[in-house]
Amino acid sequence: WPGHEKKHVTYGELQSILLETPSAAKASEWSKYYTAGPHLAGKNLSQAEWTRDRWNEWGIASDIAVYETYINYPVDHRLALLEKSKSNDSEAEAWKVAFEATLREDVLEDDPTTQLDDSIPTFHGYSASGNVTGSFVYVNYGTYWDFEDLVKANVSLEGKIAIARYGGIFRGLKVKRAQELGMIGCVLFGDPGDDREMTEQNGYEAYPDGPARNPSSVQRGSVQFLSVAPGDPTTPGYPSKPGVPRAPVDGAIPSIPSLPISYLEALPILKALNGHGPLAKDFSEYWTRNTGLGYKGVEYNIGPSPDDIVLNLVNDQEYTITPLWDVIGIINGTIPDEVIVVGNHRDAWIAGGAGDPNSGSAVINEAIRSFGEALEKGWKPLRTIVFASWDGEEYGLIGSTEWVEEYLPWISAANVAYINVDIGVANKGFSASAAPLMHKLLYEVTALVPSPNQTVKGQTVRDTWDGKIRTMGSGSDFTAFQDYAGVPSLDMGFGGDQPGAPVYHYHSNYDSYHWMSEFGDPGFEYHKAMAQLLGLAVAKIADTPLVALNATDYATALKQYVEKVESKLETAQPELSSDVEVFEFRARTAGTEVKGDPAAFEVSLARLQQSIGEMKAAAIKLDAKAAKLAEEANEHIPWWKWIKKIKLLHHIRFTNTKYKNIERAFLYQGGLDGRPWFKHVVFAPGLWTGYAGAVFPGLQESIDNKDFVNAMKWVDIIDGCIKTATKTME
Ligand code: GLU
Ligand code: CA
Ligand code: ZN
Ligand code: ZN
Repeated sequence: WPGHEKKHVTYGELQSILLETPSAAKASEWSKYYTAGPHLAGKNLSQAEWTRDRWNEWGIASDIAVYETYINYPVDHRLALLEKSKSNDSEAEAWKVAFEATLREDVLEDDPTTQLDDSIPTFHGYSASGNVTGSFVYVNYGTYWDFEDLVKANVSLEGKIAIARYGGIFRGLKVKRAQELGMIGCVLFGDPGDDREMTEQNGYEAYPDGPARNPSSVQRGSVQFLSVAPGDPTTPGYPSKPGVPRAPVDGAIPSIPSLPISYLEALPILKALNGHGPLAKDFSEYWTRNTGLGYKGVEYNIGPSPDDIVLNLVNDQEYTITPLWDVIGIINGTIPDEVIVVGNHRDAWIAGGAGDPNSGSAVINEAIRSFGEALEKGWKPLRTIVFASWDGEEYGLIGSTEWVEEYLPWISAANVAYINVDIGVANKGFSASAAPLMHKLLYEVTALVPSPNQTVKGQTVRDTWDGKIRTMGSGSDFTAFQDYAGVPSLDMGFGGDQPGAPVYHYHSNYDSYHWMSEFGDPGFEYHKAMAQLLGLAVAKIADTPLVALNATDYATALKQYVEKVESKLETAQPELSSDVEVFEFRARTAGTEVKGDPAAFEVSLARLQQSIGEMKAAAIKLDAKAAKLAEEANEHIPWWKWIKKIKLLHHIRFTNTKYKNIERAFLYQGGLDGRPWFKHVVFAPGLWTGYAGAVFPGLQESIDNKDFVNAMKWVDIIDGCIKTATKTME
């Protein structure tokens, strides 16, 4: 490459540096630093500066980008179970407090993080202030479909407070549906039944004495509605710079108050429902699975509680516009308009955050330090690499979304791929979601890194991983890149369920350095493996002459996604093995009036398959051409054959531009129905799942609504995108 001849470090040498530099001891040191005190969004400037300074020290030019965002901080809260005593005549004195929740997690002698004076109270990001009192209803996971069951069974919901267990879907969507159904408040708790294996009920000791969930642990988290748009809810589609106009937040965040509580404090509330209303087991199997049913005297009645047993829920939140700080570090490449972005968020709900997000922060630091080593030895990447330490992820992916909104023209023109690490290590199983263009890269890179979990000596991460790659949904900072800017993205970490692994205390005080070093990753070998994976993935996409994206995999995946849509039209009940499948099945069987002609729609899907077939032919050709060019790029061309060399460079550049533009072809500027910020026609967070992705959301949602007129509209839009992608490749 012109200007690139003086490269002292070969690609092979670079790979060795990226494998050999990351150290478990250093990762532990970074983890300890980040988890030493609170670092809530907008309150972590010293950590932003520390991060910037370290990255600069390691040779990566870094600075801080500031956004002024609308967020909340907790002021006060209360949750009490009130009972009216029959004996007392005076109305005012008749109510007695049957149970007053502490709304605190236990301070543990073994875990210094839990002893900090400035620990952050339990609360929900973007929750509404309020003081409500009313009888309450147990709503299972609080999914859209759980609420449907309650509505069908005529359980009265209006004016009541919902108590739901965490799990299944993004928590904000639980509050959203409760609010839509006229409920006045929402309480969320974590049921250890959902921890499956490692529970006290199964004889395991609770943290800090053992791997089971500490029963006082509380999951904080954002309750923004996500389905509208991530980022600062007052600036959808543009960056939160000082002085910008701000949109009203209605419809983007809740108007009813909510609180997270522990299982311990949920028990008296659930028990107060015993004997009132139908039993969970009278509904579907879904209502009782994974509950600690019968455990500790809870019968799992639905309620509502009678009028003389009520909850008082107080939530006092201060809303403010405050700066957030993204640290951005850059290694300039030789090629001017091909850029890789790599990110991890820095903000956490709690003082600790050893898993979420600072395992990722330790990992990205080790990867950056390794690239620094390579730079020191004279390496220069072909493509520019941008590293990001995002702020405000927890509230709603704010730091990353605002940054993408600010630099959209440049990102659209130059960004080849985005790689995300959020929870780098929280469990033993490797797990990933990725755009199909990046599947091959992921398989190749995982095969280069020794597994920290070897049962047979010499196994790589690829060998110990089932190889399942999820589609892109939401829940972390890749969302704006993938769904808004059309940048193929990859998200990975050791966060997957693995039998025998200790329970991870997500968004709790117990996600601490102590937990990580005693249970999560003693020795920090998983951190080290993640840093190696990250470095090698970045190197692969930034520094091989041909951009390491695979077009054929995209066409193959699209074909499967259409088949998935087709199967949605079948009436027979499929085997439902995952939560997502349960949700999808329940969504499509919901009764609404049929609009348009389902048969004509089904026929139109054949048109999509036809276009995908054409795309696949073009993709196979493009991948073959890229493979050939890659070989030629490896051959030595003597200087006097300079015409040949220039021609080759021209071909490579031309081919890389094609790859860069494939994902962009799947953006539809009008956006998805009812959520125009989401512009990708293939990938979006499921409307009522949030975390789990939906493929061809426009089609799936139309089918769920039995609106085949709209479904046909989406066939046209998607067909247009596929054809554009094909043209891009040809
Ligand atoms: N990782 C955050 C969570 O799951 C994301 C919050 C959001 O998407 O708003 O709570
Ligand atoms: Ca914005
Ligand atoms: Zn996170
Ligand atoms: Zn989180």
